[in-house]
Amino acid sequence: MDLSFGPEELAFQQEVRDFLEEALTDDIKIPTSKTTTVFVEKDIALKWQAKLNEKGWLAYFWPEEYGGPGWNSVQRYIFNQECARAGAPGIIPMGIRYVGPVIFTFGTQAQKDYFLPKILSGEHYWCQGYSEPGAGSDLAGLKCKAERVGDEYIVNGTKIWTTHAHHADWIFCLVRTDNTGRKQQGISFILIDMNTPGIKIDPIITMGLDHEVNQVFFDDVRVPAENLVGEENKGWDYAKFLLEFERGGGYSGGLKAGIAKLKAMASQQVKDLKPLIEDETFAAEVAKLEIAGLASEMTEMQIQSQLSAGDPPGPESSVMNAVGTTINQRLSELAMEALDYYALPFKPIDLDLGSNEWYPGPDYAPPITGTYLNRRAASIFGGSDEIQRDIIAKLVLRL
Ligand SMILES: Cc1cc2nc3c(=O)[nH]c(=O)nc-3n(C[C@H](O)[C@H](O)[C@H](O)COP(=O)(O)OP(=O)(O)OC[C@H]3O[C@@H](n4cnc5c(N)ncnc54)[C@H](O)[C@@H]3O)c2cc1C
Repeated sequence: MDLSFGPEELAFQQEVRDFLEEALTDDIKIPTSKTTTVFVEKDIALKWQAKLNEKGWLAYFWPEEYGGPGWNSVQRYIFNQECARAGAPGIIPMGIRYVGPVIFTFGTQAQKDYFLPKILSGEHYWCQGYSEPGAGSDLAGLKCKAERVGDEYIVNGTKIWTTHAHHADWIFCLVRTDNTGRKQQGISFILIDMNTPGIKIDPIITMGLDHEVNQVFFDDVRVPAENLVGEENKGWDYAKFLLEFERGGGYSGGLKAGIAKLKAMASQQVKDLKPLIEDETFAAEVAKLEIAGLASEMTEMQIQSQLSAGDPPGPESSVMNAVGTTINQRLSELAMEALDYYALPFKPIDLDLGSNEWYPGPDYAPPITGTYLNRRAASIFGGSDEIQRDIIAKLVLRL
């Protein structure tokens, strides 16, 4: 099998590199390199997304009619790899990757016309209201209730672990609209303006001292019935469709960039009077990561080609999620090991460009411990590792 690029693909790769060279300015790149959380802060993300949107590259897997660039799977792959290699921030997925495809696949024409352009422009910043206390892995057990009264739904209940709810203009929610029958059957998918009276957001500060997640409370929140996506009580189908997009994200570019950074760091760190990267045990661990990274890259290519054919990612996205998050966590562990005692004095990083705050250790030290702490959650969010492995066993391996 020949996986090398042809002339057209090489020209496209150069086009992406040229764009990144110009558009990825220090005010975006430097805070991104210091970020320890999964997503960069909203202001950085929106600055970057505006540049991508202007170029027409932001929603690169959306159909052209809704603003996608019409790329094939190889172009998407090249774009992902080049962005990660250059240190670009990841695209915040809640709008572009999650709710966007649900709206253009299942939404009304009015919903498409209203929401899709605002997702692209960044005017609407989204968060995801799936999980509840007691309904995470067992998502179908959710209780947040939406009662139809006239041409409105009245929503009561709570959502938890809601990433960036404190930044969001809109939340897409799974709500219970019927309690009879199988629990999957009475769920609906609705879009709620975060400025609606009755919504309260409590921050949850994680062990990495990050404010990334929240608990959101709904107390008699009135939502226009036209904000229901698709049919009432059919939300479970749309929820599963979205989860395939959530779990099939482009991991391999980031993993490769992370492994390259780890190797560069281990070349500077010293163990037994020689560079750490020459230590056999450490080098073997890095090699294992590289092999796993290559294997996950193959799965990612398969998913990209399914997307190009107009199909959803399928259960293979659970392979990406399980393997990608495992490698990511291992990467952060090896970085801690490489940094040695400089990993101990943890303090959160000031992301301001002009900051002259002092951090102990070499210049690559500051984000390492925060990233390690943050990545402990990687095998939980987007569906825990055990749940992904169950899906792989049932739907991929047919066990
Ligand atoms: C940092 C972070 C960000 C998140 N962001 C969002 C967000 O933006 N929006 C959102 O809706 N949710 C979000 N989540 C929630 C996330 O999807 C859930 O935490 C996840 O699905 C697990 O659910 P739970 O926390 O209720 O754990 P539980 O479901 O209670 O699971 C606890 C443990 O039991 C295991 N377990 C449970 N059931 C089984 C089973 N059947 N077989 C084997 N093992 C099982 C799990 O693997 C896990 O180890 C986020 C979570 C985190 C940590």
